[in-house]
Amino acid sequence: MREKFRRFMAGRYGTDALNQFLSILAVALLLVSLITRVGLFTWLGLAALIYCYFRTFSRNISRRTEENYKFYTMQERVSGKLKGVKRRWADRKTYRYYRCPKCRQMLRVPRGRGRIEISCPRCGTQFIRKS
Ligand SMILES: [Zn+2]
Repeated sequence: MREKFRRFMAGRYGTDALNQFLSILAVALLLVSLITRVGLFTWLGLAALIYCYFRTFSRNISRRTEENYKFYTMQERVSGKLKGVKRRWADRKTYRYYRCPKCRQMLRVPRGRGRIEISCPRCGTQFIRKS
């Protein structure tokens, strides 16, 4: 049985981080559908599950690797955003955050200094804000 499975999986993609995420997502969606009894979640959960199995048994390994790589990039972007939000919330009493009007870089200035001229360290644009 084991040997059979091994032979079946030969040349197929198998599992990766994206598939782990998809299977967890599928279980979560199916649980939500059980609790809320909203049919849409059942379909979304099944779709995630089917996509996960499709990727596991796929023979197009380069394509799947690329998807997984994109998933990592996306995950990093999301966790970076979350970290930013967390940090802003943590020091909301001592700092104010402004975006550079030119390059959109996020800048942090200490609160309570009145009107100050801020110069962007990335592009050098200067602008005045109340801190
Ligand atoms: Zn700038």
